[in-house]
Amino acid sequence: MKSEIKRSVCPYDCPDACGLLVEIADGQAVKVKGDPEHPFTKGTLCPKMVHYERTVHSPQRLTQPLLRIGEKGTGQFKPISWEEAIERIVDRWQGIISNNGAEAILPYSYAGTMGTVQRNCGEGFFHRLGASRLARTICSSAKSYGWASVMGETMAPHPEEVGKSDFILLWGTNVLATNIHLMHYIREAKKRGAAVWLVDTYENPTAQIVDKVVLVRPGSDGALALGIMHILVRDGLIDQEFIERHVQGFAQLRTKILPDYPPAKVSQITGIEVSLIEEMALRYGKARAPFIVLGSGLCRYGNGAMTVRTITCLPALVGAWGNPGGGLLASISTGKVFHTQRVTREDLLKEPTRVVNMNQLGYALTELAKPPIMSMYVYHSNPAVVAPDQTMIIKGLMREDLFTVVHERFMTDTACYADLILPATSSLEHSDIYRAYGHYGIQRAAALIPPIGEAKSNWEVFQLLAQAMGFEEEFFQQTTDELINQMIDPPAPWLESIDLAKLQAGYPVELSLPENYKTTFLTPSGKIEIYNPKDADNLPHYFEPYGDDAQFYLMSTPSVYSLNSSFNERPDLLRKRGAAYLQMHPKDAESKNLLDGQKVIAFNARGEVAFILKLTTSVPQGVLVTEGLFSSETVPGDSTVNALTSQRLTDRAAGSTLYDVKVDVRLWK
Ligand code: SF4
Repeated sequence: MKSEIKRSVCPYDCPDACGLLVEIADGQAVKVKGDPEHPFTKGTLCPKMVHYERTVHSPQRLTQPLLRIGEKGTGQFKPISWEEAIERIVDRWQGIISNNGAEAILPYSYAGTMGTVQRNCGEGFFHRLGASRLARTICSSAKSYGWASVMGETMAPHPEEVGKSDFILLWGTNVLATNIHLMHYIREAKKRGAAVWLVDTYENPTAQIVDKVVLVRPGSDGALALGIMHILVRDGLIDQEFIERHVQGFAQLRTKILPDYPPAKVSQITGIEVSLIEEMALRYGKARAPFIVLGSGLCRYGNGAMTVRTITCLPALVGAWGNPGGGLLASISTGKVFHTQRVTREDLLKEPTRVVNMNQLGYALTELAKPPIMSMYVYHSNPAVVAPDQTMIIKGLMREDLFTVVHERFMTDTACYADLILPATSSLEHSDIYRAYGHYGIQRAAALIPPIGEAKSNWEVFQLLAQAMGFEEEFFQQTTDELINQMIDPPAPWLESIDLAKLQAGYPVELSLPENYKTTFLTPSGKIEIYNPKDADNLPHYFEPYGDDAQFYLMSTPSVYSLNSSFNERPDLLRKRGAAYLQMHPKDAESKNLLDGQKVIAFNARGEVAFILKLTTSVPQGVLVTEGLFSSETVPGDSTVNALTSQRLTDRAAGSTLYDVKVDVRLWK
């Protein structure tokens, strides 16, 4: 059989946005490899994507629209035609709009696909409809806020900076699971003699490649950063010249804040030995070019935005930005590279509509009034698994008067509660254009194979719905490829220096960064703003996260073999991931009379979740860890980990507090 190799992009919610080479034979994807020509990912893929063809052609793919015929949540459906499905949705929505207004309809989506068009096009449709809007803040809004409050719109460093550093701090990140291609630069730096330290709440799998691990009490990272700053100032390890030239507010920080964070106090807050805090500060202060790689988990606490803001101040004190290899990488923002507003179409919103926070879906579905949510349209997201306070969400999804539509590739936990399920295409069946949040590459990808069964892309479904609703705007008539063309025509300033023909042909292309971008601080003052006059809290300081009244912190962390709730359809990856384990320190287990391998229940005021206990000294006492999000089918009990998490929001930017959770544990009898 003759085959050909075509380029594509990994569509999942991961900073790396890998370039793919897909072998196509007879209209099927038969093999997927990394693209060696990709400037950042250079031909390697993570274990999840090396057999992406198994996901695309999985026998579990949904291939037809399905109508619920049994009780909600029991998974009983019958196939119907697309015509009937669209008619039913539009009939129901027109009734809801007449009775309750269009704000009674809630779209729910996040990052099941990261393609600019397919990810965002629903917003254009729902703005035109006048539906409630969704605050999409589940992942890292507090992280972005924390970075921006110090650095404004300053460009993030190119990841190759990591390779030039002599002291790398991986802070709250498991790069082996979430940013694997950064390893290339970490190895490069190590070869040149750099030291690599990991700061985290447990010895995550990346601990195996670092020189030292610093275990910090969950939610106290901001205090650690202030303690380091205290020592840097005390010991004269600051770069006075850089500070005078480039920093706003150092004097206030030095006199008003830092005296409150001596090492002994910081040790009490963080649980880290004084000697280790001193050593860390000394290494950081004496390094030629210290570089911090900042993860996202630490922003998901009640103090998450302030934590990120505080850590982001550190490089300024030692003038790290001025040296090749120095700085801090939180996330790369290339939002202005495409004309995304041409698919989000805020101009179609006749008047501002209600905003519902995606982290408070349980509340929205069960308590929100005036109007209540009467219909939810879920696309490329799985809130029954990924959103906090699962018990309340399920209660909402069980409402007989709630009309739920789910557009999906697989029968997810959320889809089980739907009234109508629509089959969705995979990234190989539709076209799109991608940017990344871990590097400066962009890439256009064409549809490579025909849709599986009757699957349709996000945009195709919104076009059908628009037509049935009688929306006459030209926007809804455009094909996906026309929308992609509009993303880059005319090219935004950033695209002017790239080879557009290469981009159009589907090759990965890297955006170039201006000279001296690392010391061009795009803030209102033109300086790094340790003192931020716009925030009611003008200076960084530490305050406690929420916590709960329970014994153990619970960390729900990423797995190498899954990504949020994606890849649960893959038996090969499920086998590698193993059971839903709860990792516990042996001394904690002893104090509770628990044994390795036992079924246990983690519980708090919000819910109860069953796990298999795994004893390990990789987690400190007082901390429990579970890796990966499982579907309800693959866990020992009925609920999954987000039955334990809370709808509370971060201190700024209304983010999720998925790590700010405590539980107790008992044997499952
Ligand atoms: S999930 Fe991330 S690392 Fe894995 S292939 Fe996709 S972009 Fe690359």
